[in-house]
Amino acid sequence: MNGAEVKRLSRLVFLGTGTSQGVPIIGCDCETCTSSDPRDKRLRTSVALESSSSRVVIDTGPDFRAQMLREGIRQLDAVVYTHEHKDHLAGMDDVRPFNYLQKCAMTLHASDRVEEALRRDFYYAFDEFKHGGVPDVQVSRVEDHQPFEAGGMHWHPLPIMHGKLPIHGFRVDNVAYITDASHISDETMSQLHGLEVLVLNALRPQPHYSHFSLPEALEVADRIGAKRTYFTHLSHLLGPHEKAEASLPEGIRLAHDGLTLVREEGMWTEVPSPWTNLVP
Ligand SMILES: [Zn+2]
Ligand SMILES: [Zn+2]
Ligand SMILES: [Zn+2]
Repeated sequence: MNGAEVKRLSRLVFLGTGTSQGVPIIGCDCETCTSSDPRDKRLRTSVALESSSSRVVIDTGPDFRAQMLREGIRQLDAVVYTHEHKDHLAGMDDVRPFNYLQKCAMTLHASDRVEEALRRDFYYAFDEFKHGGVPDVQVSRVEDHQPFEAGGMHWHPLPIMHGKLPIHGFRVDNVAYITDASHISDETMSQLHGLEVLVLNALRPQPHYSHFSLPEALEVADRIGAKRTYFTHLSHLLGPHEKAEASLPEGIRLAHDGLTLVREEGMWTEVPSPWTNLVP
């Protein structure tokens, strides 16, 4: 950290809370996909983590541009990646406006595997002789259990399994963000004590080989025992937000796009955003 003062996490914005196809799904007429509740419109999973003077986004999915516009985001200090799947990577090209606004390269915190995917999918951003107008990025390597600094905040990578793929969750202060997990080792579990806020993936009621189902997520959330848990990376199969959330135990909620948490005097609370005000 070079002796610089560590910034505290003070705000978390759910940019997207949907699984890889988003909700609604193109061509689907189910109860969730045809719901008029704005909470049933889920862009691909991502969050913004903010201190009083910095902002980091976790993942740049296909909806990254729409998310930046919706939340009116004009400053972005870094991107941190969980893994290389397309629903978490596809929007990276749209860091360009931040290059122009901030007149500097965007730092992408990525594991070796994510870096390989970035170099493959966005090869033109890594060419020796670049055309104008391509993303200006620099990769900073994320290694298991090696804390790093992003946006002046202190990040702890949490190795987790996504089917057979090793990926990363992250802990910043007393908040942890884990998406696309299907297994969390005892070693990683031991780093999840004392959480105020846990964000955890819960795909659908039925089992899935590479994502926690709702029953599995409930069990894991109970074992971790954070003060508040929010489920994300949600499928339409979970049912409409209102119904699905009503079945959850106290302290566990479904996240929805635009939901914002703020830390004031050490306490995390939900604040309405212009987006959530649309909820009837
Ligand atoms: Zn995903
Ligand atoms: Zn549907
Ligand atoms: Zn994935």
